Parts: sequence; C-alpha cells; structure tokens
Amino acid sequence: MGAAKDQKPFKVVIVGGGFAGLSLAIMLEKFDIDYVLLESRGEIAPAIGAGIAVCPNGCRILDQIGCYEPLKALGLAHYHTHRVQGYDGRQHLVCRDGYEHYEKRFGYPVLFVDRPSLVRLLHNKIQKKENIQLNKRVSDIKLKQDGVQVHSNDGQIFEGSIVVGADGIYSAVRETMYRIAKEVQPGYFAENPSSKVPCYYFATYGIAKDVPNLSLEEVYISQGKGFSYFVFPGHNGQVFFLLDEKYSKTPYGDDIQRRFSAEEEAAFIKKYSNTRIADKVRFQDLYDHRVVGGMTPLHHTVYDKWSFKRIITMGDSAHKPNPGTGMGANLAFESAAELVNGILNVQKERPQGLNGLEDSDVKKIMDYVESSRISRARKVVDESYENQVVNGTENPLKTWIALRVLPNFVKESFLIDAQCGLMADAPSLHYLPKPQRPHVVPFKDELPAKPVGQIAAWAAWVAFGGAMGATIYLAGKSMRLDVSNRTLWANAVPIIRPWASSKGPGNLLRVMTSIFSDVIASENLATRVQAIHFLSQLVGSILVWTVEGNREANRTNILSLPALFLTLIQLRGICHIAPYWALLHSALSDTGVHYRFVKPDIVNSLVPALTLGYLVPSVLMMIPSNVVAWQDWTALWQFAPPMVPILTTVFSAGLRWWRNLGKHKTKEEKKQEAKEERLAIYSDDDVAGLKSAYSYATLVQATSHIVTMAYIYTHPDLSLGKIFCGLPNPFEKNWNSPNRATEVGLFFKYDMLLSMGALAAHGLYSIWQLRRDGYVRTQDAVKAALAVVFGNIVIGPGATLTSLWSWRESAISGLIRK
Ligand SMILES: Cc1cc2nc3c(=O)[nH]c(=O)nc-3n(C[C@H](O)[C@H](O)[C@H](O)COP(=O)(O)OP(=O)(O)OC[C@H]3O[C@@H](n4cnc5c(N)ncnc54)[C@H](O)[C@@H]3O)c2cc1C
Repeated sequence: MGAAKDQKPFKVVIVGGGFAGLSLAIMLEKFDIDYVLLESRGEIAPAIGAGIAVCPNGCRILDQIGCYEPLKALGLAHYHTHRVQGYDGRQHLVCRDGYEHYEKRFGYPVLFVDRPSLVRLLHNKIQKKENIQLNKRVSDIKLKQDGVQVHSNDGQIFEGSIVVGADGIYSAVRETMYRIAKEVQPGYFAENPSSKVPCYYFATYGIAKDVPNLSLEEVYISQGKGFSYFVFPGHNGQVFFLLDEKYSKTPYGDDIQRRFSAEEEAAFIKKYSNTRIADKVRFQDLYDHRVVGGMTPLHHTVYDKWSFKRIITMGDSAHKPNPGTGMGANLAFESAAELVNGILNVQKERPQGLNGLEDSDVKKIMDYVESSRISRARKVVDESYENQVVNGTENPLKTWIALRVLPNFVKESFLIDAQCGLMADAPSLHYLPKPQRPHVVPFKDELPAKPVGQIAAWAAWVAFGGAMGATIYLAGKSMRLDVSNRTLWANAVPIIRPWASSKGPGNLLRVMTSIFSDVIASENLATRVQAIHFLSQLVGSILVWTVEGNREANRTNILSLPALFLTLIQLRGICHIAPYWALLHSALSDTGVHYRFVKPDIVNSLVPALTLGYLVPSVLMMIPSNVVAWQDWTALWQFAPPMVPILTTVFSAGLRWWRNLGKHKTKEEKKQEAKEERLAIYSDDDVAGLKSAYSYATLVQATSHIVTMAYIYTHPDLSLGKIFCGLPNPFEKNWNSPNRATEVGLFFKYDMLLSMGALAAHGLYSIWQLRRDGYVRTQDAVKAALAVVFGNIVIGPGATLTSLWSWRESAISGLIRK
C-alpha cells in the first residue's frame, strides 16, 4: 500500500482558464509538472472584458515564462502623460513620461492590453493544449486519502494530487472547499466567509475604438463625487475605459447584484453621458464608439484563508482588488508563481520528488502560499481601495489633500511613486532565471538583504529622534556666549571697517568678526589649533548638505535649501542646526535608488565651489595678516559656508550656459532635451563625479586632522585632552570663564563636540537606513558602522562623513541593473 502510494504521480487540477489558471498551466509546463485545466466556457478567449493594465510586477513574471516579448509585440500604446483631473476638467496632477518612468524603474512599463488578446497570448504559450478541457464546469470536489477527485457538471471526474480554484470571484471551488471543511473540520473557516465580502462600487467598462478627438498618448484618471473613471489607450486605435459609482448602501455577499440589465446600464450611461473626459470628448463619445463592454459589481476582498487540505484558491477567487490600481490580474500571476515556488520547494526537499505527496507535504505548499501571499494581497487590495476613496471623493478632506494640496509639494512622478512600492514588493518565480532588463528600482527579491519590518524601522527612528532631541537640549545648555558689546578685534582693537556698523546687518557682521577674532587671533595656541581643526572638519557637512540639497530625493523638500541651513549654522552654531538637519534628512530624504541622482553639472561644480567658497576664505582667515585685512577676511568668512551651495548653483548654471552657447535648437529638440533631462534621474552618470568630490573633501579633512593630531602630540605645550576635552558641566549655572577668549573657546569646543556627535549619529542612522531597506547586508552595515566609529578617531569626523557618503553612494547606485 505504502509503495503504491509513493508512486502516485503528482498532478494539479486547475479549475478556470482565466489569467490565474492559464499562467499557472504555463508555469507547471516549464517544470514538467502534470496538470489538467478545466474551463466552464466553450472557448478560452471570448470577446468579453475590458482593458487590462499589465504592471511591471506582472510583466516580470510573464517575461520569465516567455510571454512578455509576445505581449510587447502586440504594439501596445506608448502613452506619455497621466492626467488626474476633476470631472469638470480641472487638472490636479500631470505626470509626463509615465511609460518611461515605469520602464526605467523596473525594466518593464505598464502595458494596456485588451483582455481577450492577453488570454489568447497565454493560451498560445501552452504546449499541451490537450490538457485544456473546455465546457467543464466544476460542480463538486471529493477529498481522497492521497489526492482529489474533481467533478464537472457533465459527470466527468478528474483525479489529481491537489486542486486549484482559479475560477474567479464566484468560485465554485472556494464554496465547495468551505462545505467540505465544515463537514471535516468544523470551525476551520469562519461561518460563510463569502457573505461578508463587500462591494462598494459598481462600474461600466469597455473598449472603444477610434474615438474622435481623443489622444492615444494620454491616460485620464478622474476624480468625481461618488464616482471616478479611468481611460487609457490600447492598440489599433482602442481606448479602454471604466467608470465606477459608489453604492449608496454597500451590499455584501449574495446581496451583491451579479448582472445588470440593459435598461440599468443605459440609465447609468445616460447619467454620466456629459461627463468630461478631455476637451471635446464626453463620456457619451466613448460609449458611442464602444466595441465591447458591460457592467459589473466591483468586489473588494482578500479571504482570510485560501486553502483546506488539498484544495487551494487563487486569483479573484482568493483576492479581489478594486481595478483602480490595475492589479487584479497581476496579483493572479503572482499567486500562480508563488504556488509553483511552494510546490518546487517541497520537490527539492523530497528525495522521491513530488510523487506520492503526503498530506503534510501538501500542507507545506499551502502554508507557503498563504504566508507569502495573504499579507501582500491585503496591501494591494487596501491600497487600491484607498485610491478609490480618493478618486471617488468619499472623504472630501482626504481628496482635497491628496489632489489639491499634495501636488504642490511633491514631484511630478508622485502618481507613479505611489504604485511603485506595490510593484517592487512583488514576487517572481524562484526556480526560473529572471531575464536581465536594465532597471533602477530593485524588486524585493533582488535586494542583497531582507528589508526589516515596520516596527523595527519606527523604533530606530524614534531612538534616533531621541538622540537628536538630547543633542538639541544639550546645545541649549552648553552654547553660552555673551554677544553684547562685541566691537573689538581680539578684545583690543576697534573694528572700524566700511561693512561694520552699530546697527542691523553691519552690527551682526561686526559681532561675528569680533567673536571669531577671540579665537583666531588668540594668544592661546590651544584655542587657535582647536579652531583650525574645527573649521577644517566642517568641510564634510558643507559638502554633504550641498549634495543632499541637490539630490533628486530632496528636490521638493526643505533640504533643497542647503544655503539656509549653512547660514543658520553661522548664526546659531552648527551644533544647534546639525541635529535638525539630521532629523529632517532621516524623515524626508527618500533612499529610493530612483531618487539618488544629482545633476552632473552640479556635481562638476562641487569641488570648485567648495574650494573657492570655503577652503580659500578659511585659509585666508586663519593666516595672520595686518589687522585690517585680517578683519576683512574674517568678515568675508562669515559667508563662506552658505557660499558653497550658492556657488555650486551659479557654476552649474554657467556650465549649462556654456554648453548651449551658440547652439540653436528647434522647439522639438528642446522638448526632447527636457524629456531626457527628466529621465536622467535614472542614470548613474553622476556617481564618479560625486565620489571624486567626496575623495577631495576626505583628503583635505583627513590631512588637516592627522597633521593637527601629530602637531598636538609632539608639541610640548599642547595636549589632546586640554584641546578637545576639559569641558565644564553644561548643567552648572555659572561657568565663571576668566575672559571672553576662554568663553569663545568653550563655545567652539562644545559646538564641535555636539555637532560632530550628531553627525556621527546621523551617519550611523544612514547606514541603518540602507540595512533597513535591504540595500546592504547586515555584515556590511556592521563593518560600515565600525568604520564610522574608528574613522572619527583616525581620519577625523569630517573625512569620516565624506567617506561614508561615498560608500553610501556606491551602495545605492550599485543596485542599478544595467
Ligand atoms: C472592469 C475591470 C477592469 C479590470 N482591469 C484590470 C487591470 O487593468 N489590471 C489587472 O491586473 N486587473 C484588472 N481587472 C481584474 C482582472 O480582470 C481579474 O483580477 C482577473 O481577471 C482575475 O483572473 P482569474 O483568473 O482569477 O479569474 P477570471 O478572469 O474571472 O477567470 C476565471 C475563469 O474560471 C472560469 N470558471 C468559473 N467558474 C468555473 C467553474 N465552476 N468551473 C470551471 N471554470 C470556471 C471562468 O469561465 C473564467 O474563465 C479588472 C477587472 C474588471 C472587472
């Protein structure tokens, strides 16, 4: 008996010949796994249905099974612009180059295809057409000791090891599974789960052809009150559309109307006939040119459990998102892929392969699918509903924020960004090679490490926020400086220069020059050495803040104003500003690979700007000269830190102007150039230049640090402890500084200690961010963190920061697949 059981060959009975069933059949064939597919209809690709958006996650799986190239060969629309608009035509969001954005990010665009073409394409790919049985409506399933018997309503019985219910939202397999479970293991499923499925919206959809005045290069998404629509181009003049309306009272389960009469549909169309799609195009125009279409309820669900013993559901029978994010069929491909992954995992484990699969082995397959799929499906389904809530103005405040307020503060590609996370998280077939397509955003399974969970991510951010808060608090306690009556140079000579005055900016400049003079012109060598070291270590922050200010990630947030932060450090001390900058950076700066880019003109301007804007003024200020000139250099230096980002912008504009000098471009050429510039964010042309700038700054700062340390170490009157430590207790009320020079010296010491501490903590946090997102492996993150700790001692804080940023640049850009 045992031997015979062991020999029972593995076979999958697939119920349903839609996207889930057909893609599963192709995948099984790839691994020589036997199957039969039962389809209730008399043909595989009837001329019914709407347009289907095949997203990059779906494309990748189709590519693995050889269906992507044939899909592209259909000549599908190369659309340009996504428009989110009010039904009255008011534009909310416009995203140009949608097709390219997706393709550059993932190696695949979003392709719009009509359902019959895609079904036909999948069907054509199936080698063993004899395994597809039409006119087989499954009506019952029997669980046997080592397999299943699947009954069709013409009385035929199909034997298999497992049965897969890919039979759509009204799945007979799912309902049979519930019935069997109730008999065999009561309580395994909740009572009648299908009765709890809600349906918030219903829709009319279809394919129109040759609609006059409608651009085939645009995707239209509309926001309405209680309704919304999507219109997108297909191929051969086709336009796909869907217009949905919210039910006034949400029906559930069997109360959801399955079919709509012709009268109901006509009344619905009439209601929206005048709704604007584009200039000169109304909804009625689409309908008048409709070739095929219908009306349907839009269920919204992810079932809590998808399997029982040898029965499993997938595709719409298990998860059904609203079509808003165009993910239903894509999720079906994903589920098919994960089921095959689960089967092959078990095959790998068993010496006898899949033959004679025990119940315990089947359970492993089912558990694998459910654990890998249910939370993913929930995320997609919830997000698609959120999308619907916004577009349908279910919550006017939410819609107002999402469509009116946010677009003013976010990048143009915001619309696409929102979907990208869903796509990047998608699985693929583990046991088939992933075709090499150049792309920038790694899919989750391409990352060097598994991203960490949300809770750990939040906990780390809270801890980091606490550390920055503590630094800000300490800065408040320790940064003490009396700025009154600061009119003298080195507490001896009055500052009488044209830029100095007793009021306004002239007074501020005089005060700052006076404060600095207490250090640089101090007779105390230790104070002077500390100041030289401190100012040289600021190079790292100035460079990094300038780079971050010009990074694509920060184009629309406050970090894009590095000159503001670098002005504030002059006024308040860097230890007051660095923690705020670090907090803002940790919260606002997206680590996405597609946001890493810095324009090459900016990159090429960094070294000259740093040299002229900061290094030269710093050297001039630190070298003693006649008092008048020295005062001038010191006053000029006050502008040095913000001068770096300002000069970077000026130089890069100059480079651009120089490049274009004498070139006359047509309007078309200018348009093309602008497009290339928009899409340049996906290149890594800037990395080499950035790394050169980081190396330059590292060299300058490390040299300064090492020479300073050596000097202090060898000088008989100096000691490291006295120069960098020996600080008074910040919680003591009165420090009783003997003179102003000592007071300023302590101010600078605390400024350096706290700011460099904050920047080192931020450096560690930025390493954690890369590990959090799965961009680097744990051991590499640990090595980088240790390098930060030791680097601060050996090459100094500034050089450590720029070295870290260079490593970070490589780690992120290294994820780009060429
Ligand atoms: C208007 C609209 C627009 C959409 N747009 C998109 C989009 O842009 N992108 C996207 O990814 N998804 C989209 N979807 C969702 C997508 O169509 C579905 O998620 C997808 O079709 C699910 O595939 P499936 O194979 O699970 O089920 P189905 O496609 O429903 O296939 C089920 C198959 O099983 C057969 N069957 C049913 N009962 C039995 C039985 N008892 N025995 C044997 N066979 C049976 C059916 O005849 C059918 O062939 C859209 C859906 C709608 C309604």
